[in-house]
Amino acid sequence: MIRLYDTKVRDKVDFNSLERGKVGMYVCGPTVYNYIHLGNARTFISFDVVRRYLEWRGFDVTFVQNITDVDDKIINKANEEGRSAAEVAAEYTEAFIEDMRAVNVQDPTIRPKATEEIPAMIELVQELVDTGHAYEVDGDVYFSVRSYPEYGELSGRNVDEMEGGHRELRADGKGVEDRKRDPLDFALWKAAKPGEPAWESPWGMGRPGWHIECSAMSRKYLGLPFDIHGGGADLVFPHHENESAQAKAACGCGFANHWMHGGMLQVNSEKMSKSLGNFMLLREALKTTRPEVLRFLMLQTHYRSPLDFSDERLDEAAASLGRIENAVRNLKWALENVQDIPSPLDTRKLMDLGREARTNYILAMDDDFNAPRALGVVFDFVTDVNTMVGDKTISLSDVPAVKDALETIVTLMAVFGVEIALDAQGEGAADYPAEVLGLAADLAGYSGDDAQAAVDALLAARADARAAKDWGTADAVRDGLVGLGFVIEDTPQGARVTYEG
Ligand SMILES: [Zn+2]
Repeated sequence: MIRLYDTKVRDKVDFNSLERGKVGMYVCGPTVYNYIHLGNARTFISFDVVRRYLEWRGFDVTFVQNITDVDDKIINKANEEGRSAAEVAAEYTEAFIEDMRAVNVQDPTIRPKATEEIPAMIELVQELVDTGHAYEVDGDVYFSVRSYPEYGELSGRNVDEMEGGHRELRADGKGVEDRKRDPLDFALWKAAKPGEPAWESPWGMGRPGWHIECSAMSRKYLGLPFDIHGGGADLVFPHHENESAQAKAACGCGFANHWMHGGMLQVNSEKMSKSLGNFMLLREALKTTRPEVLRFLMLQTHYRSPLDFSDERLDEAAASLGRIENAVRNLKWALENVQDIPSPLDTRKLMDLGREARTNYILAMDDDFNAPRALGVVFDFVTDVNTMVGDKTISLSDVPAVKDALETIVTLMAVFGVEIALDAQGEGAADYPAEVLGLAADLAGYSGDDAQAAVDALLAARADARAAKDWGTADAVRDGLVGLGFVIEDTPQGARVTYEG
């Protein structure tokens, strides 16, 4: 039984999908006026792991994520840059999709854009007006918070203790506090200012408020109620409280059956902010860090806890992931170099350990998607595999057990969205020191800039030198590689090299 922490219940609850075998999931997408930063990336990666896990457990998941492509921030940026809001939105929508794919976040099943869903929003606003939950003032439409007694149920806030939290500017730039019936009320529809994107509506030309977008799009694409609504913890109030109030007040039905929220990301133990100078864009981070390493680092903290990002933690994550990749390379190599020898393995024990790892992984992930614990399970298994198989040459009768171990590691990491490539050597190459290129140029006549190709060229040069009994060159290659942190091992099948840093 999967259990998850439900923000609204403020406790872990059993997860029962509304329709057997299916999950409808909505995660608020970005407002596209800039590249996304690491904190945004963390939220999207966390929910990608939730989705991948549910799919792996057999659920057919419909994952909806909106693009907020009309908003004050987009309009402001467009004005600053002297271009249209649509151009700004299109550029950063494309960048967002690129960034998500770069960190192996699966595309949503449906990715609606706010500007293409205006009729659904107008319909919902109209329903709220018709049912007395909303009212119009000069082209603006506001949600009447006090018309909906459950307001505050998600965030645990009491309406009578709230101040006028929804400080919004009207289209003419004046404060709205004096126009609303109650300072708590918030905008569903905003009358248009000249030059801004605007759509026709029963209340004149205007555009939707941010909160109504998600209520309308989740309802349209998932139907109400749906299983899981997710987002960063900063969205609980007011965004999700408002989404929920709008949707439920209009239909008199449920909205999200469960609410899940991801923790924030800090850099070097400080809140990430432009003023502290530690604000990091995902695409900047990816210039120096492999996406698998970034995901690995994020998996090491539970999705609801604050995550501390630092160079030290990145290095640790790279080293830990390297150990897993190394074990996979060893297993792959063993399977490709089976010998007719007595079995060196206790294959039954290896199979048992694999089964145990899969079971414990599921127990950890079933417990509110506890990825750090599940990662620990994989790590323990990798340690066992290294002890049992290591870089041994195996016999034909070992193949099923070794294959099982390999598949267990690769599959469990893939559920995390960390793909461990299966080529025997290539994967660690991103971590190879750049000096290997110079060494290959000196000793192997290599002139490219691919570290893996440079290592291959050096090994080939060494093999040639040994064949020609040119021990001086062969030793120079070996000493050069060892000096850079490589370990070379000669086997009957040729030299194997691993990078230990
Ligand atoms: Zn939303």
